[in-house]
Amino acid sequence: MQYQRFIIDIKQQQGTIIHLNAAQTHYLRRVLRLAVGDRAVAITGKGTAWLVQLTADNAEIIAPIEIQTELSVNVTLLVSLPKQGIDEIVRCCTEIGVTTIIPILSQRTLLKPSANKLTRWQRIAQEAAEQSERAIVPTIQEPIPLSAALSNSNPTSAHCYFCTARYDIPLFSTVLSSQLAFGDSVIVATGCEGGWTESEILEAQEAQFQLVSLGRRILRAVTAPITAMSLVASVSEALDPESSMKSS
Ligand code: SAH
Repeated sequence: MQYQRFIIDIKQQQGTIIHLNAAQTHYLRRVLRLAVGDRAVAITGKGTAWLVQLTADNAEIIAPIEIQTELSVNVTLLVSLPKQGIDEIVRCCTEIGVTTIIPILSQRTLLKPSANKLTRWQRIAQEAAEQSERAIVPTIQEPIPLSAALSNSNPTSAHCYFCTARYDIPLFSTVLSSQLAFGDSVIVATGCEGGWTESEILEAQEAQFQLVSLGRRILRAVTAPITAMSLVASVSEALDPESSMKSS
């Protein structure tokens, strides 16, 4: 049986009761049209989920549920903010399985996001995670400069890739197939409409990011991260848990 799902804050759980807020009650009763006694799945967005039964005011936990819809690798996308389409990137990459999105202010970034943008992106990520039946809601971080993102990325604990158009460099799909193992972490960077500057590409290489190609065509700034995410997901889905014995 397929139950309706809704996201809660872990603090709403006390013992066997989940204390619902007004927005959740409205959603469950009015939008999903559930009645007292009906069942649904409450998820924390951080990997925990319960089958619950609605009571007059709250929800009562019936049993914990294991959700197995996550990728076997942890993926962080560094997305140089495009002028248009970041909502689409957040939505589609959440569907495909991204763990964290870090918007990047690069040299050619034109958009200077307003403060309320982050809340909007987080809401889009939550809706997309619910829709795709994920166990976690991806984290969308505050935009930061590329140099900060590069220095925060540790190439010894994650595979770090930098997508660059127009270069004779290895294909991302080939590189992933030979490098990725179960449970690994991946960091992938994609540029905005104007692409990366030469100095940004050099800086990324100095930070031990591998330059990779997404094919011979030039993809839009919105298409590139979605494509990169799809490639990681397709390689990840085929990984054998035994491959977690890393050689590095
Ligand atoms: N205006 C730039 C292209 C920008 S495309 C130019 O004319 O060269 C936006 C971003 O998508 C790029 O910075 C890159 O990160 C990514 N991208 C697009 N096509 C790609 C490809 N074929 N291979 C690797 N990355 C690509």
